[in-house]
Amino acid sequence: MAKWVYKFGDGQAEGRAGDKELLGGKGANLAEMCSLGLPVPPGFTITTEVCTWYYAHDKSYPQELEEQVDAALDEVGRIAGRRFGDPENLLLVSVRSGARASMPGMMDTVLNLGLNDETVEALASDSGDARFAYDSYRRFIQMYSNVVLGLDHEMFEEILEDEKSRLDYEVDTDFTAPDWQRVIGIYKARIEEELGEPFPQEPRKQLWGAIGAVFSSWMNPRAITYRRLHGIPESWGTAVNVQAMVFGNMGETSATGVAFTRNPSTGENALYGEFLVNAQGEDVVAGIRTPQNITEAARIEAGSDKPSLEKLMPEAFASFVAISEKLEKHYRDMQDLEFTIERGKLWMLQTRSGKRTAKAALKIAVDMAREGLITPEEAVTRIDPASLDQLLHPTIDPKAERDIIGIGLPASPGAATGEIVFTSEEAEDLKSQGRKVILVRVETSPEDIHGMHAAEGILTTRGGMTSHAAVVARGMGKPCVSGAGSLRVDYRSGMLMAMGTVLKKGDIITIDGGTGHVLKGAVPMLQPELSGDFAAIMEWADKVRRMRVRANAETPADARMARSFGAEGIGLCRTEHMFFDEERIVAMREMILSDSESDRRAALAKLLPMQRSDFVELFEIMAGLPVTIRLLDPPLHEFLPKTEEEIAEVAAAMSVPADKLRERTEALHEFNPMLGHRGCRLAVSYPEIAEMQARAIIEAAVEAGKATGKPVVPEIMVPLVGIVAELNFVKERIDQVAREVMKEKGVEIEYLVGTMIELPRAAIRAHVIAESAEFFSFGTNDLTQTTFGISRDDAATFLEIYRKKGLIEEDPFVSLDIEGVGELVRMGAEKGRATRPDIKLGICGEHGGDPASIAFCEKVGLDYVSCSPFRVPIARLAAAQAAVGRG
Ligand code: PEP
Ligand code: MG
Repeated sequence: MAKWVYKFGDGQAEGRAGDKELLGGKGANLAEMCSLGLPVPPGFTITTEVCTWYYAHDKSYPQELEEQVDAALDEVGRIAGRRFGDPENLLLVSVRSGARASMPGMMDTVLNLGLNDETVEALASDSGDARFAYDSYRRFIQMYSNVVLGLDHEMFEEILEDEKSRLDYEVDTDFTAPDWQRVIGIYKARIEEELGEPFPQEPRKQLWGAIGAVFSSWMNPRAITYRRLHGIPESWGTAVNVQAMVFGNMGETSATGVAFTRNPSTGENALYGEFLVNAQGEDVVAGIRTPQNITEAARIEAGSDKPSLEKLMPEAFASFVAISEKLEKHYRDMQDLEFTIERGKLWMLQTRSGKRTAKAALKIAVDMAREGLITPEEAVTRIDPASLDQLLHPTIDPKAERDIIGIGLPASPGAATGEIVFTSEEAEDLKSQGRKVILVRVETSPEDIHGMHAAEGILTTRGGMTSHAAVVARGMGKPCVSGAGSLRVDYRSGMLMAMGTVLKKGDIITIDGGTGHVLKGAVPMLQPELSGDFAAIMEWADKVRRMRVRANAETPADARMARSFGAEGIGLCRTEHMFFDEERIVAMREMILSDSESDRRAALAKLLPMQRSDFVELFEIMAGLPVTIRLLDPPLHEFLPKTEEEIAEVAAAMSVPADKLRERTEALHEFNPMLGHRGCRLAVSYPEIAEMQARAIIEAAVEAGKATGKPVVPEIMVPLVGIVAELNFVKERIDQVAREVMKEKGVEIEYLVGTMIELPRAAIRAHVIAESAEFFSFGTNDLTQTTFGISRDDAATFLEIYRKKGLIEEDPFVSLDIEGVGELVRMGAEKGRATRPDIKLGICGEHGGDPASIAFCEKVGLDYVSCSPFRVPIARLAAAQAAVGRG
């Protein structure tokens, strides 16, 4: 018989931490904690295979499931000394989702399940606390109605608010037992009115309703969006965890909380967390009440006057500290813990590897390696390369004047400036107009994910360090200030009220997620520091990686930045970018307007010294590291004016008739310029352009070699080759010029001539092309364009539709299409090597900075990847992970 249900409790479990695929993250870790002998309320996990079955069989269950659930429920009751649905000896359960990858807040949870009009009385007498019992029942009705019956959460909140103002109460805890009974009555009447049938009383019916709702929630729009953003496959499914309830809301000796074994924001090695006295599970994360600190140290640092758990419940605190240390050692990673204290007794409800900021991830990995808990190589695999982006975020210049209008919690680091918006829709709207916004909310909910994505930063006025806004912003690497209680948001009037200041929608503010400050206006920022833990990880990464990392750079500033990020050379210098400078474009235009070769050569002669000095500077900055310079690539019309106005202006400045300029522009017009007169085709038509560039390169190499004392070996790259004859034609010119220059200068230098592989034909004929080419650089931007037959300039409009409709998972211009374009890369590499075993192989398309594509480059055995300077650290780390097989 197939096994669909896995039990845990009483120091034993049928599952293990390694069973995440089957039991989901939560279920697997509950089982593991149980086996470790930790206090975990007994329960069972319905596997992800049931979820798969459910969707494959028209939302029904396998036949044996009911029997297995019943047996497991009996076992839970036996361990707890209770029975589900038995008012004499009441067992209540929680029902929670738990996917393989954590998806916080995306799916549904139901607590206190099993309560009804009869059992609530049992809970009241059992606990000796009628107020608690009715509060639990009304929470259950609220949650169940929302999650299972599909009623609006707001409807219940409104009823609650009405009662609160009628009774002149401030907070929920003011309600007495009879008050809650009355609220329950109103709830039930309203539910019956909405649904035409009463709230379900039968506990088993409630249970199956909740199980079905959790499975259904796998396909809710929130979860679908979350999966898309995080690349989680739909096929994984979720598990369902059913567990005996423990109560953090049984009075003043009860509490509930969440904690991290190290600080998730800074990485500091100190237990870090928050709790609420007399509260139930979701209250902490929901950000409705602002929670208290767990440790005294954290309380003092936060300047809070509310007692810490350490002071308030020292025994429970001590067990919690011991457990958290045990779990961190056991999992060898920082853990994110959930716990409940029921009348002084500690229960563990969850452990998992904690989400953290990039800065914390670095510090934790480096510290753990130094503590001997993990190896340096493991430390390298612990960092998500893409997350390094966060560390490259600017921070506020400490010398800048700060007009502080509010202070909240430093929920996610980095600083950001933007216009105030109050809704996620506005955030998206303005972002699409290219504007920068700060999303300001009382609190955020999973519905705000898209707005948070669009915003530069997030500011909330309510909620703690583990509130939705804080957790999600950290995951996204966006600056966030949460719980800025002195600020008031008025959605209706579109205003943000600060101490003595009123700001409106559209006003500029700056938030500092490192300090929690909210500032008026824009503030000078500083670029990030790349020493310390960052440098340590990079050093370890550099030790294990095989592939070299170069940068795509053409300006001295970019080249310097690339070096400071650890680039080991330039993999692509796009020379056309050097011709847009005011002075140069004139000579460039003269060249394009020339009617004869000799006129063209005259114009090119003006460009030569400028090109040469550009190259000298690049070679000097790179001090002996390899530099690949690509000959002119774009179609010539890109250098000519476009509008009538521009044509008139340029014509006047160049003293040529506007008609001539217009005619030439029209003559150069192409229907498909991307597939037109560009790349090596220009060099075939006008060899003098390639000759000038080759001369500039060789002369510069001689000069820079002399100046630095380090020989420069330039790599001259011919773009867009499709047939070997093109390469041979251009190479002959280059070699001829090189011979001339060396003769003139009286020195011999080494140089390489190679090509880009950016057309399918070039990949197919790579073995022949390699007879002439001394290196290949895969230009995967063009190779993607030409393999798919999708224009890189027009793709954005419809590729997004493809992605939304599920036809593709990733934009192939962002992450290499391994099955298609990748196959051409593999073929090109293999064929190239077959002809010339020591051929140098690299990649210089955008994919050179994308971790998944880098992992592929490692598999194919490329020698290096080349990417934009800011992505160099990401590429170094990704290349290291790929080398140890973890990319
Ligand atoms: C490429 O095509 O991948 C490439 C690097 O060249 P460019 O983007 O300049 O066309
Ligand atoms: Mg290209």
